[in-house]
Amino acid sequence: MVHNATSDRALIVGAGHAAGELAGSLRQGGFAGGITMVGEEPHLPYQRPPLSKAFLSGEADIEAIQLKSRATYDKARIDVRLSMRVVGVDRAGKHVTLADGSRERYDKLILATGGRPRVLDIPGLQAPGSLTNLHYLRTIRDAERMRHQLKHGFSLVIVGGGYIGLEVAAVARRHGLRVTVLETLPRVLARVTAPELSLFYEEVHRGAGVDLRTGTMIRDVQIDESADAITAVSCMNGDVIPADLVVIGVGLIPNTEVAEQAGLAVDNGIVVDEFARTADPDIFAIGDCSNHPSSLYGRRIRLESVPNAVLQARTVAALLCGKPLPPAAVPWFWSDQYDLKLQIVGLSQGYDRLVVRGKFEDRSFIAFYLRDAHVVAADAVNRPKEFLLAKRLVADNISISSTDQLRDESLPLQDLLKSTIN
Ligand code: FAD
Repeated sequence: MVHNATSDRALIVGAGHAAGELAGSLRQGGFAGGITMVGEEPHLPYQRPPLSKAFLSGEADIEAIQLKSRATYDKARIDVRLSMRVVGVDRAGKHVTLADGSRERYDKLILATGGRPRVLDIPGLQAPGSLTNLHYLRTIRDAERMRHQLKHGFSLVIVGGGYIGLEVAAVARRHGLRVTVLETLPRVLARVTAPELSLFYEEVHRGAGVDLRTGTMIRDVQIDESADAITAVSCMNGDVIPADLVVIGVGLIPNTEVAEQAGLAVDNGIVVDEFARTADPDIFAIGDCSNHPSSLYGRRIRLESVPNAVLQARTVAALLCGKPLPPAAVPWFWSDQYDLKLQIVGLSQGYDRLVVRGKFEDRSFIAFYLRDAHVVAADAVNRPKEFLLAKRLVADNISISSTDQLRDESLPLQDLLKSTIN
């Protein structure tokens, strides 16, 4: 059912990427009622990817990473309330309660609450903000705090060899810091890429001067006499690494508390259907906080990526405006480290074969993950054009008759798409 009367009210909890995209798409789609966004951060919706890239390195400022200006929201009659937290939902009364005790009515409620960094359960590291040189990275505030400490010659210890940890390592090396990365697993990016890709990135970082230690678990940290800064990080194997600053990048916890309080199903994110609807027909959940079924992968997934936040926002906007839904898309993501632009499409878990087109040593290649002769995912490094074609190979679930067709650089991937058998 489409609710689009001028009296209808869409209330968005959160003012992050998904929320900003949704508010704009609602207006563009002709939603005539009130649109209110309530966000606990003091900033208008902004892009988080630059927080570990151009914003952290000082090449982009806050204006550059904001999705839209205040004037644009005003013009579109989008009411943006910042520094304000939603603490409760009354589904029967159709209103939310804010931290200051006030209430906001809704007809349609959209939860776009994102997530928060997973905190390491190690004495001294549990309370982000308690130590002056301990950093978790999710917000502009976190990035600004970290940026001020990226000083030439400082020793930075990064816990976690995932995308965020490795991107911070790349920026810090460019700023002349001594960088150590500690990864518990035997290789970096272990949950998302093939061992060959992990090895490539390990060599890139080591080549750039990063002291990268895999299979290394942190035991505890040493704190200075005034109890306000970390001086060293101790590892289970006995290594002690002096630190001027410490960055922890070990994953994300979805913010599901508001949904739980509202009695909605939560299971590694707020449970929604393929159209981002919860079991309550008037409540939706989009972006990093939501867990949706994927027909492509035959299971539920929770994605932490901008393309997913944007797609779910546009899907809900289309539903509420009675417009055609945007086409389903395969999950994709990117990561910038040094001169390397990595673009990833699909989820590679369960692949049975890796086929590489191009050479790692040229720092330009694309790795295809196959399962039962279908391309299920691809990692492209400095190959933006071929990445677009790889997206189609994954999305169309194309069967590959010979892997030479993928590997052979004399065959354009475009032709390959035509010559494969569905
Ligand atoms: P968010 O952008 O996190 O927004 C949620 C907002 O809701 C937050 O502001 C939060 O404070 C607010 N909120 C939560 N609870 C409440 C409440 N109760 N009341 C009011 N407000 C509330 N993705 C990519 O695709 N490519 C990348 O290269 C990439 N790099 C990244 C680098 C970093 C450092 C980080 C942190 C993320 C990166 N991501 C990247 C992930 C991407 O930024 C997220 O997937 C995206 O921001 C998700 O948008 P969202 O709106 O779901 O959540």
